[in-house]
Amino acid sequence: MPKFIYTLRKPGHGLRRSGRLLLGGWAGLLSALSGTSGLHAQPATPTGSMLLAPAAVFDGQSLHAGWAVLIENDKIVSAGPAAQVVLPPNTRRLDLPGLTLLPGLIEGHSHLLLHPYDEAPWNDQVLLESQALRVARATVHAQRTLLAGFTTARDLGTEGAGYADVGLKQAINQDIVPGPRLLVATRALVATGSYGPKLSVDEDVPQGAQEADGVDGLIRAVREQMGKGADVVKVYADYRWGSNGEAQPTFSQEELTLIVQTARSAGRGVVAHASTPEGMRRAVLAGVETIEHGDGGTLEVFQLMKKHGVALCPTVAASDAVAQYKGWHKGADPVPARIQQKHLSMAAAQKAGVTLALGGDVGVFAHGDNAREMELLVHDYGFTPLQVLRLATSGNAQIFHLADRGRIGPGLLADLVAVAGDPTQDVAAVRQIRLVMKGGVLYKQP
Ligand SMILES: [Zn+2]
Repeated sequence: MPKFIYTLRKPGHGLRRSGRLLLGGWAGLLSALSGTSGLHAQPATPTGSMLLAPAAVFDGQSLHAGWAVLIENDKIVSAGPAAQVVLPPNTRRLDLPGLTLLPGLIEGHSHLLLHPYDEAPWNDQVLLESQALRVARATVHAQRTLLAGFTTARDLGTEGAGYADVGLKQAINQDIVPGPRLLVATRALVATGSYGPKLSVDEDVPQGAQEADGVDGLIRAVREQMGKGADVVKVYADYRWGSNGEAQPTFSQEELTLIVQTARSAGRGVVAHASTPEGMRRAVLAGVETIEHGDGGTLEVFQLMKKHGVALCPTVAASDAVAQYKGWHKGADPVPARIQQKHLSMAAAQKAGVTLALGGDVGVFAHGDNAREMELLVHDYGFTPLQVLRLATSGNAQIFHLADRGRIGPGLLADLVAVAGDPTQDVAAVRQIRLVMKGGVLYKQP
C-alpha cells in the first residue's frame, strides 16, 4: 500500500501534507519553487524535457530491452534504443535500473463510488451511506487506483450516488485529488422493477441506477445522463429479477436499440451489463460496444459478438471475490458452480475469438487491487502475462477509443508506469509499482 495512504489515515495529517508527498520529487519541486502547494497547487506541469532510462520498455505491444523514453511536458516525444534518442538541451535524466516502463494501465470496469461488499453489502452502501461519505471514500479510491499504476479508468456507474462521478472526475482533472483519467457512466439505466435495492414491496426505495422505460423515458434519460457528463452510457440488459431470483432480460430489443441510437447520435458508446444469452444477444444486436460479465454466454452468442465486433469485459476478479465472500475457501474447497460456469463461458469466448477488454469490476473488491484481474486471467484462465499486459494497455485503449494512450510512442500522453522486474514474463511484477506518471507529472518515483 502506498505510503501516503497511511499518512492520510493518521490523525493530524491533512490533505496539504499528502498533496506534497504525492507531488513530491520533480513536480513537487516545481510546485514549491513557484510558491504553490497544498489544495490549490497549480497543476504541477513539468516544463522542459525528461529522459526515462529503464532496463526495458513495454510499448503496449512488445518488450524492448535498452530502450529509453523522452517526454516533454505532458507528452511522449520519442521512444527507442537509448543511444539513438536525440536529447534537447537541458534534458533531465531519470535512470530506472532494473525496471520495466509501461504505458499507464487502463482499468476497464470500476466503481469508484463502491467499496468491497465484505465491508458493507451493496444494499447498505446504496441505502445507508450518504453521498458525502461515498464521495470521501471515492477520493481515496481514486488515489489508490492511480498509485496502483492505473492512469485511466472506465467507471461504470455510481450505484446510487447520482452524478458524483462527474464531480470526482472534475476534482481529478483540476488536481484537487490525485486519480486516474476517468470515463464515467453516471447513473446507468435499468428497466423499472428490475434492479435494486428491494425491501418490502410496500416501499419504493432509492435505486442503484436510473429507472427508465419506453421511447420517451429512455430518450430523455440517456440525454439527461449525457448532458450531465456521461462519457459512456451503461445499460443493464439483464438482471437477477426472475421469478426465482435468476437473471432474466430487462429491456426489449427495441428499447436497447433506441438507447444505442440516442447515445451514438451524440458521440457516445453504450456498454451493457449482461450475463444471459438472450440479454447479451439483444445488446449485441442493439449495437453496444462492450458486454460486461457475460457469465452465461454460449458459443453461439460469443460468435455473434465476434461478428458484430463487440468486446467482452469478463470481470473474472469480481466473480472470484463474490464467491469468496460467500464462503468459498479457494484452493481448499471445490470450485463453486458459478466459477465453473465462468470458466466455460471464457473458453467459449476464446473459441469464438471475441476481443477481450480488461476490467475487474473493482469496487466489489478493493480499489488499488486492480491487478487482481490480470493475475487471475494468467493463473486461473490460462492467459500469458504478455496477453494481459496488451489487454490492459493498447487493447483497452483501442476498445475505449482512447487513441492518445495505451501505448508508448511519439505524441501520446506521458502516462507511464515503471515496475520492478519483467511483467511480460511474470505478471506479479505489475504489483511492484515503482513510478507512476500521468500527463508528465510524477505521482510516485523511486
Ligand atoms: Zn460493475
